[in-house]
Amino acid sequence: MSTSRGGTAAIVPAAGRGERLGPGAPKALRSIGSIPILVHAVRSLISSGRIGLVVVAAPPNGVDGVRDLLREFGETVHVVPGGDTRQRSVALALEAIPEVYEIILVHDAARALTPPSLVTAVIDAVAGGSDAVIPVLPVADTIKAVDSSGTNVTATVDRSTLRAVQTPQGFRRSLLVKAHAAATATDTTDDAGLVERLGLPVAVIPGHTEAFKVTTPFDLLLAEAVWLERRKAAENDD
Ligand code: C5P
Repeated sequence: MSTSRGGTAAIVPAAGRGERLGPGAPKALRSIGSIPILVHAVRSLISSGRIGLVVVAAPPNGVDGVRDLLREFGETVHVVPGGDTRQRSVALALEAIPEVYEIILVHDAARALTPPSLVTAVIDAVAGGSDAVIPVLPVADTIKAVDSSGTNVTATVDRSTLRAVQTPQGFRRSLLVKAHAAATATDTTDDAGLVERLGLPVAVIPGHTEAFKVTTPFDLLLAEAVWLERRKAAENDD
């Protein structure tokens, strides 16, 4: 554990086929209030006022399109070609971040409406000495385990020890580099999972309900409603 002197950079892996932003992407999942989901996610990070650089991993054949989409952010956002897997995309983005950045966040592009205050809280927790930090929420539903056929309950899980994980996840740079160096081609876990595999601690902080992942048409409806409320609140403040 150590305290922070350098700045903070963020990685947004967006190189998966499901999030292609060009023609062919599922239209319903592309925008909230006519603003592309990826643009919302990058704005959330930058609005924290604490991030010097965002590196977005784009589909290798879609780098120019993603660059155009993120032009409004100027030099603060770099777009690099992603890899074959999410893990490879994060690792490639990490290599593109200058060493002056000592704290690195990894953020899901689909968590479009993440409040900047959550971004700040994650950075503060890493700067305060936790080398890996994730925002989490308690699990509201009762959780059951089922058999391999998925038709019968085998157990009721004690949900008091379970948490739903959000992003941004925050890391001391040296730890994230070490965790990705130990990753294998088949790794599908999140970045904090790679740290756990090294046997090192991952701290949790309270997440935020509005940092939900926009993946289904229902999520999109909810996101539109949240966005509208925020716009109204901002207009009332003017
Ligand atoms: O496909 P999956 O849901 O696991 O993707 C999770 C995130 O990782 C998405 O934001 C996706 O764009 C990203 N990803 C990536 N590079 C890949 C595969 C997925 O950046 N090769």
